[in-house]
Amino acid sequence: MRVSTGRAIQSDSRMFTVVVEGFGIGRQRQAERRFTVPFNQLQGLMQSIAQQGGRICAVLGADGAGGDTAAAAPAPAAPAPEAKAAPSKPAAVSHADVPVNLYKPKDPFIGTVAENYSLLAEGAIGRVNHITFDLKGGDPQLHYVEGQSIGIIPDGTDANGKPHKLRLYSIASTRHGDNLAGDTVSLCVRQLQYEKDGETINGVCSTFLCDIEPGAKVKITGPVGKEMLLPADEEANVIMLATGTGIAPMRTYLRRMFEPTEREKNGWHFRGKAWLFMGSPTTANLLYDDDFNRYQEQYPDNFRYTKAISREQQNASGGRMYIQDRVSENAEEIFSWIENPKTHVYMCGLRGMEPGIDEAMATAAAAKGLNWAELRPQLKKAERWHVETY
Ligand SMILES: Cc1cc2nc3c(=O)[nH]c(=O)nc-3n(C[C@H](O)[C@H](O)[C@H](O)COP(=O)(O)OP(=O)(O)OC[C@H]3O[C@@H](n4cnc5c(N)ncnc54)[C@H](O)[C@@H]3O)c2cc1C
Repeated sequence: MRVSTGRAIQSDSRMFTVVVEGFGIGRQRQAERRFTVPFNQLQGLMQSIAQQGGRICAVLGADGAGGDTAAAAPAPAAPAPEAKAAPSKPAAVSHADVPVNLYKPKDPFIGTVAENYSLLAEGAIGRVNHITFDLKGGDPQLHYVEGQSIGIIPDGTDANGKPHKLRLYSIASTRHGDNLAGDTVSLCVRQLQYEKDGETINGVCSTFLCDIEPGAKVKITGPVGKEMLLPADEEANVIMLATGTGIAPMRTYLRRMFEPTEREKNGWHFRGKAWLFMGSPTTANLLYDDDFNRYQEQYPDNFRYTKAISREQQNASGGRMYIQDRVSENAEEIFSWIENPKTHVYMCGLRGMEPGIDEAMATAAAAKGLNWAELRPQLKKAERWHVETY
């Protein structure tokens, strides 16, 4: 950014030109844009540009020479730049100090199960548990940040008599852990169960975890993953698309944003907007629903919670209500959020959710004259489109 320092002239009639990069979206994206405003609107303009993720390259006096930055100027109402915001790369996701592979499969950390309980209400389908491990005593201490995963190596051996391989699980607790002491990690695990040749097959690791008793020792690796990190910006907007246990990273984000004790502890005071789309087969299968309802009541201006309950709700065509139907219903607003470069989208859950979401986004983009196939890679490159499906 080039901001020159000319002689200050305290006159409202003096005009300044602000040179900005990063406005526009898709094909409308513009490399450079100039806004000329009087001195008394300069600071407001700069704030507005910053909020929309534009990069200020220079502030020039209207004569073309460098003008003053408006750091000391009054802050009038911002004349919002009319251009649409670009999928420009915000200096938002902090990858610094993110721990990776503190423990590897050959020498895993041995954690102790602190608790293991069902997350499902009566009448739910299947089995989903919240499992917390005590991480005390490691050297180095096993720590992590929101959006990462850990590996679990289940006890026992596979069909060839070899030790089982690790399975990854998204971390469902914030870096402070559910007890805020910074020495636990929690997971949200669905037991894999399917029928084959008339026989019920139970997944090895998910069954091991759902059955595990407090006090048991477990081999843990990691942490891993930088795809799902939260932006550092307290004014970021976060759209979350989750199905089933894909809620795990979203729970960490939402606790970090809205759980009072967590906010006190983390010193990160989220002021942006968060919107969770949660897909579930039944109401009884909704995970952490009470917490999210509470956040919505406490922070109605900052948090929206939209549920798609496939076996209980109907979409516009009378079929089952899936998460992509909710995306379609809210497409206009989702895209107006996405046009703001401070908006990040996170998707997590079973891999099968991706085509439906993609289709809904493509239709919504087309309605705005945008090409989703072009826009999505741009958002990805700008580190604003985060996907972890399995
Ligand atoms: C980054 C990441 C994060 C993850 N986070 C979570 C999480 O938060 N919570 C969670 O519960 N899981 C999560 N998983 C999935 C998890 O890693 C395991 O894959 C899952 O628990 C199943 O492991 P398992 O050992 O129980 O099953 P396995 O015993 O390994 O069985 C899995 C195998 O069974 C077969 N199979 C599965 N379904 C069928 C079917 N219907 N018909 C026939 N064969 C089938 C397939 O061959 C499959 O590879 C995550 C995965 C990744 C990669």
